[in-house]
Amino acid sequence: MELSAVIPVFNEAVSLPGLRERLLPALQRCTSQYELIFVNDGSCDDTLPLLKTWAKQDKQIKVISLSRNFGKEAALTAGLTAAQGQAVVVLDADLQDPPELIPQLWEKFQEGYDNVYGVRKDRTTDSFFKRVTAGTFYKLYNRLADTPIPHNAGDFRLLSRRAVEAVLTLPERERFTKGLFTWIGFKSTAVPFTREKRTAGKTKWNYWKLWNFALGGLTASTTLPLKLWTYFGLCISAASFVFALWTAYKKIMFGNPVSGYTSLMVAILFFSGVQLITLGVIGEYLSRIFNEVKQRPAYFIDEKINL
Ligand code: UDP
Ligand code: MG
Repeated sequence: MELSAVIPVFNEAVSLPGLRERLLPALQRCTSQYELIFVNDGSCDDTLPLLKTWAKQDKQIKVISLSRNFGKEAALTAGLTAAQGQAVVVLDADLQDPPELIPQLWEKFQEGYDNVYGVRKDRTTDSFFKRVTAGTFYKLYNRLADTPIPHNAGDFRLLSRRAVEAVLTLPERERFTKGLFTWIGFKSTAVPFTREKRTAGKTKWNYWKLWNFALGGLTASTTLPLKLWTYFGLCISAASFVFALWTAYKKIMFGNPVSGYTSLMVAILFFSGVQLITLGVIGEYLSRIFNEVKQRPAYFIDEKINL
């Protein structure tokens, strides 16, 4: 097996026919030794029956059906585990990752790259708000995490066999795949592409999910938010020491007129806020530690076809 394509699908019955039409020729242009692995992530539309009929017609189309919806990251991991190709391409089912780019990724792989990722030329298909929030996230992430992720790169990429093996040895259950893909290292290169609008169906993301995704990514890749508060606390202590000296001096020189309700309230509210935030940060990490120590598998497989 030379090339595997892994596609997580969740309620994509309307996108799938178009995907197949464009994906098969793209794979065939690379090699005839290919496989197509669809990971059905608990779809409740016609996705699974459709995939089953395809798998019956064509042995190169393989299906893994998960026992429920586990999320794209888990579905991707299931697909990567099953993939046998010397190179594995990961792409979305909604045709936002153009299959026509795969021959270019493949070419780079032939040149010896292990990790060939697609980078969006621009984000014009995104809303203004999405562009700003995504940009801020990437900047913040790259400043904090020890392995920066390339701006505007998603999961769409080709991984060599050893890169796939490397990703699969990382045992975490809450998988921020973008981060993992760069964390493993190896020879990487980017191929620019234009990300189209979704062909059909609708996105599974909303801003609350994206916010949690961003938090998950950050807490998975850096512990700085945990450590920051030590320094903040030190600064505050130093400042309060100076303030104490000054108050003592005023008391000795001018007596002690009672004043300062406002400053008192501001100080109390400000520092209770800071304390709650730090507790929240600890909570974020704690919940992730909690989920990791449970050691639950990232997904369960209900059914495998042609595998
Ligand atoms: N997906 C999945 N499980 C989920 C959500 C999404 O397997 O719980 C798949 C989905 O079918 C698609 C890909 O992940 O193939 C990307 O999803 P989507 O297009 O909704 O994300 P976006 O492109 O908006 O970031
Ligand atoms: Mg999409």
